[in-house]
Parts: sequence; C-alpha cells; structure tokens
Amino acid sequence: MRLAEELKRQCGKEISKCDNHELYEALLALVQQEAVKRESNEGKKKIYYISAEFLIGKLLSNNLINLGWYDEVRDILKTNGKDITEVEEAEPEPSLGNGGLGRLAACFLDSMAGLGLNGAGIGLNYHLGLFKQEFADQLQKEAPNPWIEEKSWLIRREVSYPVKFGSMTVHSRLYDIAVTGYRNRTDWLHLFDVESVDEGIVGSGISFDKQDIAKNLTLFLYPDDSDEAGRKLRIYQQYFMVSNGAQLILDECVKKGCTLHDLPDYAVIQINDTHPSMVIPELIRLLAERGIDFDEAVEIVKKTCAYTNHTILAEALEKWPVSYLKEVVPQLLPIIEILDDRIRRKYSDESVAIIDRNDRVHMAHMDIHYGFSVNGVAYLHTEILKNTELKNFYDLYPDKFNNKTNGITFRRWLLHCNHPLADYITRKIGSGYKQDVEELLKLGAFHDEASLKELLEIKHQNKLALKHYLLETQGIEINENSIFDIQIKRLHEYKRQQMNALYVIHKYLEIKKGKVPSTPITVIFGAKAAPAYVIAKDIIHLILCLEKLVNNDPEVSPYLHVVMVENYNVTKAEKLIPACDISQQISLASKEASGTGNMKFMLNGAVTLGTMDGANVEIAELVGKENIYIFGESSETVIDHYEKADYVSKDYYEKNEDIKEAVDFITGKELLALGCEENLVRLHDELLNKDWFMTLLDYESYAKAREQAYKDYEDRMEWAKKMLVNISKAGFFSSDRTIREYDRDIWKLGGNSQESEETLESK
Ligand SMILES: *Cc1c(COP(=O)(O)O)cnc(C)c1O
Repeated sequence: MRLAEELKRQCGKEISKCDNHELYEALLALVQQEAVKRESNEGKKKIYYISAEFLIGKLLSNNLINLGWYDEVRDILKTNGKDITEVEEAEPEPSLGNGGLGRLAACFLDSMAGLGLNGAGIGLNYHLGLFKQEFADQLQKEAPNPWIEEKSWLIRREVSYPVKFGSMTVHSRLYDIAVTGYRNRTDWLHLFDVESVDEGIVGSGISFDKQDIAKNLTLFLYPDDSDEAGRKLRIYQQYFMVSNGAQLILDECVKKGCTLHDLPDYAVIQINDTHPSMVIPELIRLLAERGIDFDEAVEIVKKTCAYTNHTILAEALEKWPVSYLKEVVPQLLPIIEILDDRIRRKYSDESVAIIDRNDRVHMAHMDIHYGFSVNGVAYLHTEILKNTELKNFYDLYPDKFNNKTNGITFRRWLLHCNHPLADYITRKIGSGYKQDVEELLKLGAFHDEASLKELLEIKHQNKLALKHYLLETQGIEINENSIFDIQIKRLHEYKRQQMNALYVIHKYLEIKKGKVPSTPITVIFGAKAAPAYVIAKDIIHLILCLEKLVNNDPEVSPYLHVVMVENYNVTKAEKLIPACDISQQISLASKEASGTGNMKFMLNGAVTLGTMDGANVEIAELVGKENIYIFGESSETVIDHYEKADYVSKDYYEKNEDIKEAVDFITGKELLALGCEENLVRLHDELLNKDWFMTLLDYESYAKAREQAYKDYEDRMEWAKKMLVNISKAGFFSSDRTIREYDRDIWKLGGNSQESEETLESK
C-alpha cells in the first residue's frame, strides 16, 4: 500500500494514466531513494573492483527484486491495468561491456552487495555503450548505442579529480550507480566521466575524431583499435580510469584514518584483466607524491593489488609500445622502467621481463610481479596458466596463483529472467534457495513423472514467450514445438560459430536428400563481431545467408529453421536462455577461459553440447556424462598440435565427405546467389588453408554428439531428467560462491560482511 502511494506521488498522477516510460522513471526514482537509505557501512577494509567494463544490463527489475519490492510493484501495476514487463521495456540497456568479462564484473558487484561486503566498482561512464548491431544485406552494420537519458541510474557527485596527460590536464566528474544488495545494503559503482565529451563528433556509423581527447575520452566503450589513434585512445581511457580510481581510493582510506603506510589494511584492488594495470605505477606515483619513499610505495602497492587473468589468447594480452606510453602518460614511464629494471636484475629470464626487446610493455607481467595474487577463472584455465601460458611466472611465484571459477548472479539469471521456473522451484523446495543456492540440490528429488511434466511445460511456456518476442521485435516466426538449439556469445573464431554453421549446411543438405529429422530444429545464433574483425564478420554473413536460404526453402523450412538474433545483448540473453533446449558451448578446448553463458543455460534447464573447455569441465563433472554432450579433442591434444604446428585442416577436409561437402557449399551457387562472393570465398579459404581454431579437427565428433542429443530429445521424460539434474546442480555456479572465495583467499575483508536482513531492518 505504501509503495502504491509513493509511486502515485512520484508520478504526479494516477498510475493508470501514466505511460510505461513515466512509470519506469517514477520507479527509478523510488529505487534510488531507497538505495541511498541502505548505503553500506564503511568498514575498515574495502574491495575496489576496477574494470574497464561493467555490462550491467537493465537495472529496474533487478533492483526491485533485490529490494524485495518486485511482487508488490507488479501487482500494483496490474491493478492499474499496467504490465511490469512492458514497463521494463521502457528502460534503455546500459551496454557498458563487450561480453563475458564485463558481465562477470556486473554479477560480482551484485554478489558483493548481496553478501554485504564493503566494496565498490570503479570504471568509466561511456556515453555510448557497445555498438548497436543492425543487419543489412546479410552484413553486420554498427550504429551508436546511447543509453543515458535525462533521468537515468547515474547520480552526479560533487567529486572531481585532475588527471594529467603530458601537458594537458582534464578534470573528471564522478557518477555513481547504486548496486542494491539482495535483501542487504547498497554498494556503489563509480563511473568516471569528463564533462567536455561531445556526442556531436560521431560521424557515420560509429566513426569519430580519435584525436580530440577532450571530446572523445569517455564517448565510446572500447573504440576500434585497428589503427594507431584508436589504440592510443584506449591508453587515454585506461589511464583516466585508474588515475581517478587511485585518487578516490587514497582519499577514502585517508578519511578513515589510513596513514598510507598501512594502505593494505584499508584497501584491496582487484584488477579485472589488464585494462586497469596502470593502476600499479599510478598508485606508486601518487604515494611517492604524498611523501612515501619509493621503495616502500612499491611494497605497499604489492600488498594491495591482485590480478585476474581472463584469457590465454595471445592477441588479447595487452602489450603497449613504450612510445605510446611516453606520449600519453609520460609521468608513468619512468616508474614502469624502474619496475622493469628491478625484475631484470633479479631474474635473467627474458620472458618474465616487463618491457621486452621490442620496447613493448607487457601489462600482465607488471601485474604478476607487482601484485600479490594472480587468479584464473575456471579450474582448467588456471591449470593452463600454471603449466603452460604463465609457467615461467608460476615457477617464480607458486603461492600467488589461485583459481576462482566464475559464477553468475541467480537474481538476474533465474529469479528475474525465468519467473515460471523460479516459482516452480519455490513450490517444490521453498524459497530458501534464493539465499542459499546449495538448496537447489533438493530439487533433484522431484523426478516423478508429474514433476517432470511440469518442468517440460515451463520450458514450453518459455519457448512460446520467445516466439512472441521474436515475432514482435524482428518479425521472425519460429515453431515452439521444435528443438531450440542456441549459440549466443560474441563472435570469435575460437568460439566456433563456423562449426555450428557447417552442421546447419550438412543438415540442410540431408533434408534436401529426403532425410528429415523426427522433431523440427530451430538453430538460433546471436553474436556481435568486433567492427574490425574481418573473418568474424564473414561468419555472420554466412549465417545470415544460411538463414535466408534455409527459411525460404519450402522443402527444408518445416524441419530446419535458422535465426540470427539482431543486436545480441543482456536483454536478449534474458529472453533466449530460459527457452533453450540445447546450449552450444563449442569453443576449441583450451581457448575459452571459463564462459558464463554456459552457466546461465544450465541453470535454466538447457543441456550443454560442448567441448572440455573452460567451466564446461566443471559442469560435466557436476552433472555426469549422462546429462551433457561432450565432444572434441582435449586441451592437451590441442596444445600439443599448436606446439608441433602439425594441424592441417585440408587433411580433414579430404578425409571426410560431409566436411568437404559442407565447406564447399559456402562458395556453392546457392549461397553465392544470396551473398557476397568476397566474404564467402575468404571464409572458405580460411577454413581450408588455415583454420587456426581447428574447426575441422572436431567437426566429426561434434556432428555425432549433436545427432545423439537430437535423438535423446525424443524421449521427453528422459530429457526432462537431464534438465532437472542440470538445474539442481547449478548452485556451484552462483557468483555468491565465487565472491565468497575471492574474499576468503584474496580480499580477506573480515568482520563487516554478511549483514543479515534482520540486522538491516532493525536499523
Ligand atoms: C553471459 C553473457 C556473455 C558471455 O557469454 P559466453 O557464452 O560465456 O561467452 C556475453 N554477452 C552477454 C550479453 C551475456 O549476457
């Protein structure tokens, strides 16, 4: 009742007279007022999670859930003839991240606040999030993606710091976004900005003047780094982020009584991948500036900073040319040189140096030497770091290395995105699982026929909901009685969407020859390609051509349907995942550090078709081989192929008739009639002559496992049992578990965590 009154007051008129956007803005204001009231206690030690990306997604519903308001607000709106899901649509999605890494940071903030940890996120307030993807002529086009409206989640603060770039100084502006803890206190996401940023400099598509730093500094998330100006802008952004972050951290600590000598008792900084690595020399610089002896400053920083590695792809490990740093951040270079010099004096091994012979600064090396913790993000990934990629560092610092298998917040990826399933679980085992996800295990007992049928019915409902969504948003019609076979993630060769596409070609040709599947199949893709990543865009082109070919062929379309969802983002993921039957996690073993999409699907009752890569390894161990479809070569075999350089894709093409047929179809007359010859030929040649991520190596076992999954799907009860096992074992992948481990092993915040709802309400 109280909420209804407040909402009405906020709207300034009857709720029933408001449109959805007005209701969204009114709810936003109410949430913000409440969040501020629940601001967290300042405990002594605080975790600062610094990240260039926080892919937070829409915030309204999640905040309502976290505040415990969701059901009441839904009912109030309903009473007034409004639909909460339509109000949700009014919110623009803040796409302040590229993919998994940014989404992880967002899940971590949710868990930190939910667990009552004294923590904050530090990042940048990009005016334009990850580009909006549009399809035209079966090609990806990029458009700017603004998200900041007059009323937004951003709270402008009276906090500003000077940041020096050579002879130019800019003054920042801090904006905060409240991170409401599930039935707990509020933490803050601090996003730094500059007021001189000018959205008017965006030209056609997502082009803009890369030289004008004052106007473009926080304009875009990760601008195209295919040319020199783009890469330098990235350094400007990174330094702007860490300098502001470091100044904020020192200010907060000093306010609490820190003498700076005891900084590690007040602050721990988690460096999310190498984008924030310059925080190390910047903190040393600031400490020295405030009177701390240089050697001591180095020791202090070493005890304060911890580094998370997210990838072993060589091209993704940042190495900045000394000349760029000299130009952009001349004050840091002498510090980095001293740090490098100390390492070189201590260790003769050239491979662990910070500045290499080609005058490039290896950011990860600086993190490992001058931080106290190095963690990978899934069991296999950490093992590969220790034994292969970072072996020379592991030999020096075995105690620094640790694993923290990624997780996802169940508030967003179950309670918010899949109400029917969440309600079902609550009916079966009570609502305790919302706080303690391990309770999901109890669900395993409900394998009687009636319960399993209910589970299948929920999946069917979710498939219908997706059908309606796709019809409304993209004008695409899909068959809710088909198998929903989904691969949604960034487009990258190592994730091997091309292997999925080859199978689609194979299936198409089979159906043309009269071999039709028992149950129709809907293959759904969703993926953005980096604007300068040529082959990734070619793969999108192939998928879009296949979509056109398959769906317009009356002989095939009753049995096989291909859908490429436009502009895949968090909002789309929330609609797609609950409807999925088969989750495609088919990266080349050793390449996907963890994956978190795989966890979201598992939690929502999809069965994984995947390689023994990233967290798939842990999923397989938890659910057992009956409840997952594993295929492909092991990471050891793959690493061995790379070491020996003995993989020849053409051998597989020549040995296997299906492969040859599917690969050649890419440049066959059917697709050339629909697509662009240049793109299709380039992709064909790439697969045949290079295939760096070994698509053809795994194709045969992939096709076999996929066929087996389709066959097993026919026995609906047996399939429902697999769904049940997947859901009930998903508790391990809660980011609450991950965050507890970070705190236990790395952050060691002690005392001020885990405030319960009771203590909160008594205040
Ligand atoms: C979870 C998520 C990802 C990461 O997916 P992976 O399959 O782990 O690569 C990327 N983008 C969005 C929008 C997500 O929600």
